[in-house]
Amino acid sequence: MKIYEDKCIGCENCIPYCAMNAISMVDGIAVIDQEECVECGVCLRVERCPVDAIYENEESNQWPRSVRKVFSDATAKHENTGVRGRGTEEVKTNDVTARFKRGFIGVALEFGRPGVGTKLKDVEVITEALAKEGVEFEPKNPLTFLFTDASTGKIREDVREEKVLSAIVEFVIPEEKIEKIFSLIQEAADKTETVFSWGLVARFDDEGNLPIVDKLEKMGFRVPRNMKINVGLGRPLREE
Ligand code: SF4
Ligand code: SF4
Repeated sequence: MKIYEDKCIGCENCIPYCAMNAISMVDGIAVIDQEECVECGVCLRVERCPVDAIYENEESNQWPRSVRKVFSDATAKHENTGVRGRGTEEVKTNDVTARFKRGFIGVALEFGRPGVGTKLKDVEVITEALAKEGVEFEPKNPLTFLFTDASTGKIREDVREEKVLSAIVEFVIPEEKIEKIFSLIQEAADKTETVFSWGLVARFDDEGNLPIVDKLEKMGFRVPRNMKINVGLGRPLREE
């Protein structure tokens, strides 16, 4: 995203709308820091500029910068998965995707949220560590398409420096590997320059309990009770 210098009147209306703090005033004119801008499109979509000085420039849609937009603009669609926003049907659709089966835990690590964004090379810090442990990444996730090889968790060289609003790493592990994999994530987390939040998916047992919650609390995690629950009304498209 860019701003026409000759149009901007310096009203500062656009500044509060940028979650990345990428817009600043220089000599009375608004300027967008191209390193920090994740091409989310919010400053343009809110239509608060009285002189239409904000515009999407050509580079926004050219590789590798185009990666920013598809991971940051909720209206943009990921070519590889056909899904808008984060580009994955993720955990909320387990009723129909049946990605997460009994005896397994689904994990979604959302990088860059809340509110700081992430360079893709900071996601790689965790994905490389996971790959070394044999973790297989969700094939229908847009991030998986950016690995040079999913078995290494290494991000393509040409996009490593690109900054995005949010990128979700998804994978499934057997319940018995939780301690090992989670400790590994915690160790690797110290080496990233961004934040990430954890999302976990588990299925209830026949008594209606979620044994994973006790296990996590014993490991020192605080498990919030604001879960999303699939009640099984969908018809799974994948084998159970
Ligand atoms: S496109 Fe998004 S990140 Fe870039 S300047 Fe506008 S609001 Fe900020
Ligand atoms: S809203 Fe438009 S005119 Fe006002 S500072 Fe931003 S770009 Fe300039």
